[in-house]
Amino acid sequence: MISKRISKLVAYKTETTPAKVRLSSNELPFDLPESLKKEISRELEKVQLGRYPDPNSEELREVLGGFFKVNPTNILLGNGSDELIYYLSISVGEFNQGIYFPVPTFPMYEISAKLLGRQAVGVPLLRDFDIDLPTSIKALEENECVLAFFSYPNNPTANLFSREKIKSIREKGLFTVIDEAYYHYSGESFQEEALNREDTVVLRTLSKIGLAGIRVGIMIAKESVVGEINKARLPFNITLPSQVIAKVVLTKGRDFIEDSANRVLEERKKLYKGLSEIEGVEVFPSRANFLLFRTGVDASSVHRELVKEGVLVRDMSHLPALDNCLRVSVGKEEENSLFLEKLSLVMKKLL
Ligand code: PMP
Repeated sequence: MISKRISKLVAYKTETTPAKVRLSSNELPFDLPESLKKEISRELEKVQLGRYPDPNSEELREVLGGFFKVNPTNILLGNGSDELIYYLSISVGEFNQGIYFPVPTFPMYEISAKLLGRQAVGVPLLRDFDIDLPTSIKALEENECVLAFFSYPNNPTANLFSREKIKSIREKGLFTVIDEAYYHYSGESFQEEALNREDTVVLRTLSKIGLAGIRVGIMIAKESVVGEINKARLPFNITLPSQVIAKVVLTKGRDFIEDSANRVLEERKKLYKGLSEIEGVEVFPSRANFLLFRTGVDASSVHRELVKEGVLVRDMSHLPALDNCLRVSVGKEEENSLFLEKLSLVMKKLL
């Protein structure tokens, strides 16, 4: 018998429509350099896949500690930050206590809460996409919330919430998760607070800096908090190939990561300008590796027409307050140019 909790859920859907230019999942558009791929192959040849991986990913946590400038004991790893979101939802508070997050946002916060039968308290953002503080405080008090998730910057609105508002919510006694999946494109962090407070953790991921395929998410927190959440972790959650690949890329591929992030920031500027010049398009400022834009025509039609032209973006128009909005990831220069060209064409046709 399947639980009612599960049967009333809808499985997580991501955009899988085939397209020549895929700008729908906020991945890094650049592939690893050949030299790095060769080094990965050499390292992978040495491993015996018949053996279980290191259950605690000791060496990888050491390397990540160097990368993020924290002690390895301040790091907990997940099979993507998705898994860490789930572990936090399992571990913080009791299941009859709610989980707060501003909406629209990354859907895993709500999915994890509902999987566990917890109250998912999504409070709509203001028109400028910042947190509605009075409504949030009322809602989290009414629903006895103990855990808060903030996508910082927020996916899909691309902005950073006010730090002060986040702190005001935390002051209500909520364990606060700052999901910094897009940290490399915003440069803003709560890392210092996560290292010094029992009620704050930061999430990072390798998915947005070139390694979405290997599924490595990182929680940065005080050692005592890491120790507790670690109890919810499945053994061997980071596969052997993932550990090997991440170690190689984070030791020998740092220039690649840094250069790639800088290129994305350059391209983001151009994409923003390009979008703002298209008639019937309103583009919102971005601190991430994607841009949200609104079209003066039906967004689902824009999405469909772009697919016909070989370009895949994400239709966000079904979400509250995001009527006629679409999200585009920053791609390679030629992909962005093609996207802009095709969008202009589609807008001319539909306006
Ligand atoms: N958090 C946010 C805000 C995201 O946008 C995403 C991915 N789109 C994730 C977490 C999940 O990342 P991962 O690939 O590490 O599971």
